[in-house]
Amino acid sequence: MAKGFLLIVSGPAGTGKGTVCKELLERNKDIVYSISATTRKPRVGEVDGVNYFFIDDEEFKNKINNNEFLEHAYVHTNYYGTPKEFVIDQVDKGEIVLLEIDVQGALQIKKNYPEAVFVFLLPPTMEELKNRIVKRGTETPEDINRRFENAFKELDFVGEYDYFVVNEKIEDAISDIESIIRAESVRVKRHSDIKEKIISQGGK
Ligand code: 5GP
Repeated sequence: MAKGFLLIVSGPAGTGKGTVCKELLERNKDIVYSISATTRKPRVGEVDGVNYFFIDDEEFKNKINNNEFLEHAYVHTNYYGTPKEFVIDQVDKGEIVLLEIDVQGALQIKKNYPEAVFVFLLPPTMEELKNRIVKRGTETPEDINRRFENAFKELDFVGEYDYFVVNEKIEDAISDIESIIRAESVRVKRHSDIKEKIISQGGK
């Protein structure tokens, strides 16, 4: 069986990660989404167990102590973490698991899971990034500034990723990620039984 893999998508706030990932999942029903846990309060319209598992600081700390996270990080004044058991089970089943996480989390995963695929989503320009953060209207002015400053810091890490995708038009960004997935799915290293498989189909 083909091995599944982790598909990590990171990028500064305002690059449209959420929209791109949502649309990617809509169009590719075979991709499984990893729902993170967070201590952030839900935004309007966000649903517990769908967007995130919204938990308090104490529960988050317990989960760290019980080694329940594949990675976790403190981002923009809140904790975020990827539940380990779910993700590992899905990869073992051969699934492609999408993790929309920040740079710190991605670097932790890179250390332990080098076979994961790392995609960095970029805005067309930094000016456009700021416009998008402001337009979203869900953050206070302090949050907006913090997120914009963080964006520059996060950009320093693009060199750690395997691919970059520019989100100018969402259609193109999704199509780029789909191409990455297609190519990664036919990597020989993910199909250790490919020779036996083709021979077993007969024809000699
Ligand atoms: P937001 O609060 O806007 O939903 O997310 C803030 C940041 O946290 C985003 O960069 C998002 O990718 C990141 N994030 C979401 N879930 C996780 C996670 O499980 N781990 C890490 N390291 N970052 C996450």
